[in-house]
Amino acid sequence: MTDTVHDVIIVGGGIMGCATAFYLAAADDRLKIAVVEPDPTYEKASTTLSLANVRVQFSLKQNIQISQYTLEVLDSFEEDMIVDDQKPRIAFRTEGNLFLVDESNLSAAKEAMALQAGLACRVEWWAPEKIHQVYPLYKTQNILAGTFGCQDGHLDAYGLLMGYKAKSRSMGVAFTKDRVTAVRRAGQQVTGVAMQSGQKLLAGIVVNCAGAWADQVAHSVGIDIPVVPVKRQVFVMDTKIKLQGPLPLTILPSGLYFRTETGGLIIMGKSMPEDPVGIDFSWDDKRFQDILWPELAEFVPAFDTLKLMRGWAGLYAVNTLDGNAIVGEWPELKGFYLANGFSGHGLQQAPAVGRYISELITGQPLSLDLGIFSPHRILDNKPLSESGLV
Ligand SMILES: Cc1cc2nc3c(=O)[nH]c(=O)nc-3n(C[C@H](O)[C@H](O)[C@H](O)COP(=O)(O)OP(=O)(O)OC[C@H]3O[C@@H](n4cnc5c(N)ncnc54)[C@H](O)[C@@H]3O)c2cc1C
Repeated sequence: MTDTVHDVIIVGGGIMGCATAFYLAAADDRLKIAVVEPDPTYEKASTTLSLANVRVQFSLKQNIQISQYTLEVLDSFEEDMIVDDQKPRIAFRTEGNLFLVDESNLSAAKEAMALQAGLACRVEWWAPEKIHQVYPLYKTQNILAGTFGCQDGHLDAYGLLMGYKAKSRSMGVAFTKDRVTAVRRAGQQVTGVAMQSGQKLLAGIVVNCAGAWADQVAHSVGIDIPVVPVKRQVFVMDTKIKLQGPLPLTILPSGLYFRTETGGLIIMGKSMPEDPVGIDFSWDDKRFQDILWPELAEFVPAFDTLKLMRGWAGLYAVNTLDGNAIVGEWPELKGFYLANGFSGHGLQQAPAVGRYISELITGQPLSLDLGIFSPHRILDNKPLSESGLV
C-alpha cells in the first residue's frame, strides 16, 4: 500500500472539518486537502445532534464577532454553496433568543449587553412587563429582565454541514471514510496520519477537528488537551396548549432552555454539573420528569400538561480550562492545528473558525483575529472568561 501525499489532512468531517476544508480550498485551489471521517451518516457527531442555535449574545468580544460573521455567511449561504444547480437548504429562522435575568446574573447580563451594543448587535433589554406582553405564557415573578436578540435563531444543522461538504468536494477536497488511529510526527513536525484501514496519509499539516474525540486524536501524537466529551440530553414535548406563534430560544438563569420546534412541539434541555464525562448516547426520561419538566412548568404554567415525545443525547466537547474554543497551531508540534473544545456553541463558530484556520495555514491576512483562543493559553494556564455559555 503506497502512502498518499497531501498538503493538509483534516481529522473529522463534522461542521468544523467541512468548514475548514471549504475555506482552505477557497483560499488556495492548489492545496491537496483530505478529510478523514469514519461515519458519513454523522449519527453520533455533535453537529447533527445539536440544537443548531446561532446567537450574538456572548460576553467575549471575539465570540460575538464570530457569530456576526456567521450571520453574514448564513445570509448568502444557500447561494454561495450551489453545486451543479443544487442549493443546500438551511432553513435559518430568526425567532430570537431571550436570556432571562435575575439577581444571580444581573451584572453579567448588563456588561454583556453593553459590549454587544458597542458592536452594533441588535439586542434589547426587556423589563418583565415587556416579556409578559410579548410572551404572555411566561411567569416573570422572579425575573428582573431579559435580553432579547432578534438576529438570533436556529437552522438545519445537517443542511449547513452538507452545504460545506458538497461545495468543498466540488472544489477538489477528498473525503475518505476511515478513522485516524494516530497522528504521526518526526521530532517537532507533524508528518501525517495512520488510519484504521492500515493506509497512511502523509502531510506536513494535520488539523484536529474530531469534536468530542479530539483528546484521543491529540493523545495519539503525545499531546494532552483539556477537552472531554460530556453527555447533554435534549427532550421534545407535545404540549396540550397549542401556541399561535414561535417562542424564542428562552434561557432561564438556571440554564434551562427551551424553544418551539416545527410541528407545534417544544424542545428543551439543561446542562448540569453531574452530566457524565464519556462517550455515552443514552438518554433517560427520569431527568425530564424529575427536574426539567417541573422547572419548565413553573415558568410556563400552561406547559403543565404535556407529553414527552422523544429525546436524545449528544456530546459537548468541553474545554475544562474555560469552556471556550481552542484554535490554532499547537506550540510544541509544528503543523498540528486544533479546532476543538467548542462545548455548546461550535456549530455557529464553524464559519469563522474554518476561515481563521485556513488563513493561518495559507499565511493570508487575518479577517478576524482569533488569537485569543490560541492553544498557548492551555500551556500557560490562562483561562478566558465567557458568561454566555449554555
Ligand atoms: C445537545 C447539543 C446541543 C448543541 N446545541 C448547539 C447550538 O445550539 N448551537 C451551536 O452552535 N452549537 C451547539 N452544540 C455544539 C455543536 O454541536 C458542536 O460544538 C459542533 O457541532 C462541533 O463540531 P465538530 O465538527 O467539532 O464536531 P462533530 O460534529 O462531533 O464532528 C467530529 C467528527 O469527528 C469524527 N471523528 C472522531 N474521531 C475521529 C478519528 N479518530 N478519525 C477521524 N474522524 C474522527 C466523528 O465521527 C465526527 O463526525 C450542541 C451540541 C450538543 C451535543
